[in-house]
Amino acid sequence: MSTNSTLAPEIVTQLRKNLRGQVLTDTPSRGRYATDASIYQQFPLGVVIPESASDIEAALAVAREHQIPILPRGGGTSQCGQTTGVALVLDNTHFFRKSLQIDPEKGFAEVEPGMVLDHLNAELKKHGLWFPVDVSTSAQATIGGMAGNNSCGSRSIAYGNMVHNVLGIDAWLADGSIAQFGNFASSTGKAKQLGQFVQGLANQLQPEIEARFPKVMRRVAGYNLDVFHPQSELPYTPDGSVNLSHLLVGSEGSLAYFKSLKLKLAPLPQHKVLGVVNFASFYKAMDSAQHIVKLGPTAVELVDRTMIDLARTNPSFKKTIETALIDAQGTTPEAILLVEFSGETQTSLLEKLKSLKTLMGDLGLPGSVVPMADAGMQKNLWEVRKAGLNIMMSLKGDGKPVSFIEDCAVPLESLAEYTQALTEVFAKYGSRGTWYAHASVGTLHVRPILDMRRDGAQKMRAVAEEASELVRKYKGAYSGEHGDGLCRGEWISWQFGPKITEALAQIKQAFDPSNLFNPGKIINPPKMDDASYFRFPPDYKVIPLKPSLDWSAWNVQNNPVTEEITTAGSGGDPALGLAKAVEMCNNNGHCRKFDAGVMCPSYRVTRDEKDLTRGRANTLRLALSNQLDTHDEHSPLGSDAIKEVMDLCVSCKACRRECPTGVDMAKMKIEFLHAYKKRVGFTMRDWLVAALPKYAPIISNIPGLPALLNLRNHLPPVAKLQEWLMGISAQRSLPVWKKETLWNDKSILQKLQYSPAELHQDGKGVVLLADSFNAYFENENLQAAIQVLQAAGYRVHIPQKTTQAKTSSTSACSKEFCCGRTYLAAGMVDQAKETLGELVDYLVPYAQAGIPIIGLEPSCLFTLKDEALVMGFGDKAITVSKQAQLLEEFLAAQAKDNKLSLNLKAATRPVLFHGHCHQKAFAAVTPALELLKLIPNANPELIESSCCGMAGSFGYESEHITVSKQMAEMSLLPTIRKSPNSWIVADGTSCRHQITDGTQRDAVHIAKILAAHLQ
Ligand SMILES: Cc1cc2nc3c(=O)[nH]c(=O)nc-3n(C[C@H](O)[C@H](O)[C@H](O)COP(=O)(O)OP(=O)(O)OC[C@H]3O[C@@H](n4cnc5c(N)ncnc54)[C@H](O)[C@@H]3O)c2cc1C
Ligand code: SF4
Ligand code: SF4
Repeated sequence: MSTNSTLAPEIVTQLRKNLRGQVLTDTPSRGRYATDASIYQQFPLGVVIPESASDIEAALAVAREHQIPILPRGGGTSQCGQTTGVALVLDNTHFFRKSLQIDPEKGFAEVEPGMVLDHLNAELKKHGLWFPVDVSTSAQATIGGMAGNNSCGSRSIAYGNMVHNVLGIDAWLADGSIAQFGNFASSTGKAKQLGQFVQGLANQLQPEIEARFPKVMRRVAGYNLDVFHPQSELPYTPDGSVNLSHLLVGSEGSLAYFKSLKLKLAPLPQHKVLGVVNFASFYKAMDSAQHIVKLGPTAVELVDRTMIDLARTNPSFKKTIETALIDAQGTTPEAILLVEFSGETQTSLLEKLKSLKTLMGDLGLPGSVVPMADAGMQKNLWEVRKAGLNIMMSLKGDGKPVSFIEDCAVPLESLAEYTQALTEVFAKYGSRGTWYAHASVGTLHVRPILDMRRDGAQKMRAVAEEASELVRKYKGAYSGEHGDGLCRGEWISWQFGPKITEALAQIKQAFDPSNLFNPGKIINPPKMDDASYFRFPPDYKVIPLKPSLDWSAWNVQNNPVTEEITTAGSGGDPALGLAKAVEMCNNNGHCRKFDAGVMCPSYRVTRDEKDLTRGRANTLRLALSNQLDTHDEHSPLGSDAIKEVMDLCVSCKACRRECPTGVDMAKMKIEFLHAYKKRVGFTMRDWLVAALPKYAPIISNIPGLPALLNLRNHLPPVAKLQEWLMGISAQRSLPVWKKETLWNDKSILQKLQYSPAELHQDGKGVVLLADSFNAYFENENLQAAIQVLQAAGYRVHIPQKTTQAKTSSTSACSKEFCCGRTYLAAGMVDQAKETLGELVDYLVPYAQAGIPIIGLEPSCLFTLKDEALVMGFGDKAITVSKQAQLLEEFLAAQAKDNKLSLNLKAATRPVLFHGHCHQKAFAAVTPALELLKLIPNANPELIESSCCGMAGSFGYESEHITVSKQMAEMSLLPTIRKSPNSWIVADGTSCRHQITDGTQRDAVHIAKILAAHLQ
């Protein structure tokens, strides 16, 4: 766990002098590069973000001069610890990530190592090509990392592993020279010399290689000494020639530093069909795989009973997984196999499906295949399969599914016996495994649940020993997909014996005589259970602290066999659940994705690990366990180190939904702000934002004041002065105060008052929340919502304080309720609790009467639905939360139940919809689109965008204005500009503001477009 070793100051100076890219040596930065998706943690000596090849060259030169180890890094998603090390880490993903050449005719691409697989495939799509090593982490895994690990995809049975698809690698050697590794026969220079050396070893050891190398395709352990005498069931090259780049594939950064990689491309399959075979017995499923592969599928993937059950309990996956079942109402199968065929014509594939059905009949399972020819359904089901591991990893408590024997590969004819025997081993050690993945190649993923802080290491050793016996018995490969790293390094000699192990050491010596590259990986590895490498060693301790929100739901332990969790609050976390919530991040790197969803908008702009959900979670974890030099261990949450990572978090809540383990950074940011502001105090800007609901009524009631304040938007010097005084950017217009508001229109307000009983009478009563933003700045939205609801026959009640409503210090002078969002955004949790508590109390009788509670502003409504649950309000908050919904959710649900009568005229302009982040986080975008579809001819289109960049007050803050605009320019604003004539619908106040500022176009709330189309 030592964080102490770092670079000497003169070396840092030299690096900074010789490089253009950043050199990071502070403890938090190093801490963010200390982990990958394994159980290990090693603080690097420093981190370099090279801006160019010459930066890498310079860093290598300095490292060579001072004998500092070098660790090349991609997405850091490795599962075995190969991307952790006491070394100088070089992160290729910022700048070293371009495609250099794509030759569709010759079918190859040349790329820099930091390029992400999905980004490459997006470029290749227009040529009808793809790079077919389809790892589950395709959205974040880099080509360099994939080559480093010899990664394998779901379709490896058809396309092979990385080693089968790399044509050449140009790499820096330890002496700083660049060597071209490709076809051996035509190689020259250093590459040739090294090749000849390895050839000599291989020839000498040919009988040993033939005896010791597993014959299965999925073998990734050690170096590929067998390039000269291939042992894989799939030849490394189609013509049997030797390609020296294959020596580097799987070398885990320990032989050379890849500069560029030449890759073999494949035509994108024109058609695909899926046959989902349902099995009543797991054993039978495993036993059938060997027969199914004979039909020539491109994938055969397993989803077992536990995974099916878990998917069925997850609202995002339930429907999809049930499309795969023969009878969703009947008995759940013990396993399903997803059998994919792809090819040129659909007809030939349908024939394949027929053969599958026949085969299953012959195997005694007639009627067990669900045919799936529809591409959309197939895609959805693959998403569930890919999410498999992540579904499992969401288990709360200290026991976690641990990856250490999860990719042993055995021949298919032994798969059933192997899985049965290993299941018995798990049971013997009081654990259980969930099986999934690559049945086609005998590599099934399985992770027993172990508690690494307690007896996990001992159990891991015991299970590994027994698993290795089984692998030997069935002539399999112990390391079949995820590499060696710290976890499997010690098993290399077990797999290959002393002679080959010695030969591998000689290869390392020939390539890297000074042990510059990633020492301790493959050669001289530590023991897998050496606790000094663990992320959670037995002496891991969390600092006691009392968070401001209720995290007790995370403060639990689990049963490794039943996966049941203990009662909330019983987990023994000294940080009362906050630390355990933070520790849910397993570093899988899913938040590094770029193309789909929202997470993580700040990273998408900066590509900086510190602006990533993972970077934030790691920094928090290190702070809460006192592994950072925060100087104030009593306030680790409020330290500058945490401020640095939270600065660009826009509290979009995307991670809450999109992070596979549900890391909820927006809530953690509230904790940070609370602690930080306690330390440094509140600024004028904090108060200006936080107290807005309190002073808005005063301003709107003083004649002339709204107009006077609005002058700020027309007088640049005033805006400048405000920027100087308060840090509110002069580049932004501020929301415009309205003279007329719902609150000062007593005649309307009086008609909008009903008791819960009155509203309940005929099922046509609703509560409509008048939030401060819509009330004081966009009153027309509230009026539109009332108009639409009334046109549809609903009676609308607007909550306002009456004499019986409790008054408080924060709201004594106003009759409006408030959700407390603005207080939360400023870190004033106590004030937020008081304000929101009042609203919850007021709403309880309405909620108990089953009356819908409707909101217009997503951030306000979802505060009531989400944060209210962790503020200590008890069951009241749950009752209210269940009734709280956005206008579109309510109306769309009514429409679905045939209860909505709205007479709408046809749209004359196209309609674009931008979802507010919180809408996306709570799956409230689909209802909005469904509602807009009720407008004849509207054909609403969703703008595929991440966060708009405004995020409450974030986009107004002078220090954030640039990033805010960059976020908006990623896709939202360009899409709007391309559609000059359309309605733009956006329900978030700040989203609308960003759109207007950036495009000079008006965006409207959904209530307004509906009102505009009322007949
Ligand atoms: C949820 C989950 C699912 C996964 N699914 C799969 C899967 O389906 N198939 C699979 O094979 N793996 C899988 N993995 C493991 C991992 O994602 C892959 O191995 C991935 O290819 C690693 O890519 P990366 O960019 O994160 O590499 P990193 O982890 O950053 O690096 C991997 C290795 O490559 C070396 N390396 C990186 N760049 C260079 C370079 N320029 N020169 C020399 N060496 C370099 C590193 O030093 C390291 O040893 C999964 C992991 C997770 C967490
Ligand atoms: S924050 Fe979530 S998505 Fe990101 S690495 Fe951690 S667990 Fe994965
Ligand atoms: S809340 Fe949004 S910005 Fe913050 S970490 Fe999560 S995804 Fe990133």
